[in-house]
Amino acid sequence: MNNVSYELRDKDKATAIIEEAMKKAAKKITKGHVATYIPELGKVDPNQLGICVLPVEGEKICLGDYDKRFTIQSVSKIIMLIMALEICGIDRVTEIVGAEPSGEAFNSLVELDREDSRPYNPLINSGAIAVCGMLIDEISFQDMLRFTRKICCDEDIFMDRDVFESEMRTCSRNKSIAYLLESKNIIKSDVDDTLKFYTKCCSMSVTAESLAHMARVLANDGVSMVSKKRFMSSRTARIVKTLMLTCGMYDGSGTFAITVGIPSKSGVGGGLMSVSDKRAGIGVFSPALDSKGNSIAGVDLLGRIASKLRLNLFYDPEWTKDDHETVGKEIIQT
Ligand code: GLN
Repeated sequence: MNNVSYELRDKDKATAIIEEAMKKAAKKITKGHVATYIPELGKVDPNQLGICVLPVEGEKICLGDYDKRFTIQSVSKIIMLIMALEICGIDRVTEIVGAEPSGEAFNSLVELDREDSRPYNPLINSGAIAVCGMLIDEISFQDMLRFTRKICCDEDIFMDRDVFESEMRTCSRNKSIAYLLESKNIIKSDVDDTLKFYTKCCSMSVTAESLAHMARVLANDGVSMVSKKRFMSSRTARIVKTLMLTCGMYDGSGTFAITVGIPSKSGVGGGLMSVSDKRAGIGVFSPALDSKGNSIAGVDLLGRIASKLRLNLFYDPEWTKDDHETVGKEIIQT
């Protein structure tokens, strides 16, 4: 029996597993809240849950609200990073941003007040804003939108102006981050232009299916299964996936790595993009968030299907979400 993605090759069986998991995960929605610090996001209906799984080999599975539009928010940090690594190169990127988990909230600025410090990693606001400061010397937002449409196989992606304007009116923390980065000479371009570019990228309107397409390109080492086009070097794909595993869920990344074990990136719009390496790209949407800003039902859903569909990195044949067994004191006798 082939251990890799065996269940995904049987579409009916996999669909039944995901449907069952969705019913259980949907119960979590009432325990979360939609983001309100961007007022426009506060208007979103929390009772939505959708998933799209695109296997590297096998047929796509789309369920629930997989085609509903929502703003990409922090999942766009992945696209910013891909662009920066491809256009500016790893040396310039590592000059301005680290590659370590932060253990702080996604919009934290504490680390920036220390002398000689850089943002911990490119998947939190400070790191991504630093990356945008570098990117705006090289590309326009239109270039970003064009690339996003191609890698997501979704020509309908647009910039949601209401969400953009709503966030621009309320982004005092991001402004503070950007000015601190300028004071440290990490941002050398115009601060307002950097923030506008960053916020426009966060306001791109996508679906769970669009995110699954981007995830599958990453799962397939940077090459699209649809167009056969290479979107990034395999090294860029590897760096991005590694950072997704260690930093993609902010200060919830370690727990998520244990309970789900699939490199993922979340956004406060309720999106989740997960890369099951060489197996599948997964997009999830459910806008009610937990206290760390991650989709509460989305994370639960991924946890339920990861092991059953053999999508996680460290496969554990005895593990299911509902049943954990430990060896206990017997371990001493081995
Ligand atoms: N646009 C949001 C912000 O900068 C993105 C944050 C997120 O998705 N975690 O605050």
